[in-house]
Amino acid sequence: MNVVCSSTASSASNQNELTPIAISYGDGIGPEIMTAVVDILNQAGAKLEYWPIEVGETVYNQGHSSGIAPETWQKLQKAKVFLKAPITTPQGGGFKSLNVTIRKTLGLYANVRPCASYAPFVKTEHPHMNVVVIRENEEDLYAGIEHRQTEQVYQCLKLITKPGCERICRYAFEYARANGRKKVTCMTKDNIMKLTDGLFHKVFDEIGSDYPEIQKEHRIIDIGMAQVACRPELFDVIVTPNLYGDILSDVAAEVAGSVGLAPSSNIGDHCAMFEAIHGSAPDIAGQNIANPSGLLLAAVMMLVHVGQPEVASAIHNAWLCTIEDGIHTKDIYQLGISKELVGTREFGNAVCQRLGSIPKQFSTITYTEVSPLQSEPIHASQTRQKKELVGIDIFIDWTRTVDELAMRLQSAETQHMKLQMITNRGVKVWPNGFPETFVTDHWRCRFISDPQLEVPKQELQDIMGNLLKAELDFIKSETLCLFDGQPGFSLGQGQ
Ligand code: NAD
Repeated sequence: MNVVCSSTASSASNQNELTPIAISYGDGIGPEIMTAVVDILNQAGAKLEYWPIEVGETVYNQGHSSGIAPETWQKLQKAKVFLKAPITTPQGGGFKSLNVTIRKTLGLYANVRPCASYAPFVKTEHPHMNVVVIRENEEDLYAGIEHRQTEQVYQCLKLITKPGCERICRYAFEYARANGRKKVTCMTKDNIMKLTDGLFHKVFDEIGSDYPEIQKEHRIIDIGMAQVACRPELFDVIVTPNLYGDILSDVAAEVAGSVGLAPSSNIGDHCAMFEAIHGSAPDIAGQNIANPSGLLLAAVMMLVHVGQPEVASAIHNAWLCTIEDGIHTKDIYQLGISKELVGTREFGNAVCQRLGSIPKQFSTITYTEVSPLQSEPIHASQTRQKKELVGIDIFIDWTRTVDELAMRLQSAETQHMKLQMITNRGVKVWPNGFPETFVTDHWRCRFISDPQLEVPKQELQDIMGNLLKAELDFIKSETLCLFDGQPGFSLGQGQ
């Protein structure tokens, strides 16, 4: 089995020094699985100093809408490393995801999720699967910028940045190189989102050229994800934007055998957070039946990160021995394969008893000291591109016919910017729309100079004034610009 580890600016600890780590016991099954994990870490001789912090349900209920109190941040920033049990997000509006808040506040841009199968001891259709999903962790639809724009239409902004793509693609290739991986697959939907996903794909190709020894490929996310579900052995490392990565990594973990086994690290330039990918499983909380493996393997990734690879190897090997000895929690128990059904505590004890043992059927794991990844500092490009205003998209709330709307909009034209088209949900409906096209109360109206020549900025103000005079219900606008002569906007569907 290949060694899978997370590696970033590792704070290799001095032999005798304890490395401080912030630790939270979480909600639901959190306290049970964290207790088991901490026992194993202690028995294995991990040189860690635990700084307990409280996040999650209790903190939400104290009125902190993101599940973390302001004073807790300092501890996290100081420790730089956080081992987190799953937490429960209260139902209902007004609560922000703690995970998203921590990832974005601490700049944890890379989410690394190894998904390996442990056949035949853990049931799976894919015994040779060993995939690492590297998910961009801060951008995309998770910017959480949402608006209700009309009675019928709601919007969520998908933001993809060039520095964000550069960081995550660089991380994926560095990870592959550091871990002896052979191939990195990029997955996007750039056949539809040509600018945003197109940028991710383009940056992947550019950065990939620095890694000639690594095979590179691109898949459209839909077919790519289907292949992960059916033929995961085709893949090695996968890098993908935030939302796709979120879904893909759960699919991959499930296909590997159990979400209860999959660990995850969230890596930034300054801090890192380690956790299981599963949630707080309130349905089985307090029953001593939860599988602590996902959190334990996350703790193994953490030990590699803080420069304790020998302890990481000892724990990982002891865990593999436990699995191949058939000592299984309920979620992975199989008649005929498993030897003993155990609870959370007993599983932890079984791992402790096997510390120092080497697996007989699985390959032995040997982690080594990892040097910090070669991530280039992100600089804004030295020379800014030439940006020329050539038009504007105006979004209007309107419930009558499109021809009536077009007439009013034409009265708002300026010297250079003329009405070129109107779309509804992205499809061109004027001029020459189809009666079959379904329309809502949300219209995107494109004014553009033809040929695309620079428009004086003053005309932005003119057009707004004209729209007011035409009594149109303005929602928002997007300027249309050329960047070094290339359009920074997409065509309308059907244009
Ligand atoms: P879940 O992952 O908690 O549970 C899904 C199913 O998997 C349940 O049947 C559960 O019993 C089982 N399961 C999960 N972990 C297991 C383990 N270690 N051993 C054995 N079985 C296990 O997902 P959910 O039910 O959708 O979410 C429950 C709560 O967890 C929600 O409040 C959600 O917001 C939260 N959540 C937190 C995190 C996190 O803190 N990182 C992640 C996901 C969900």
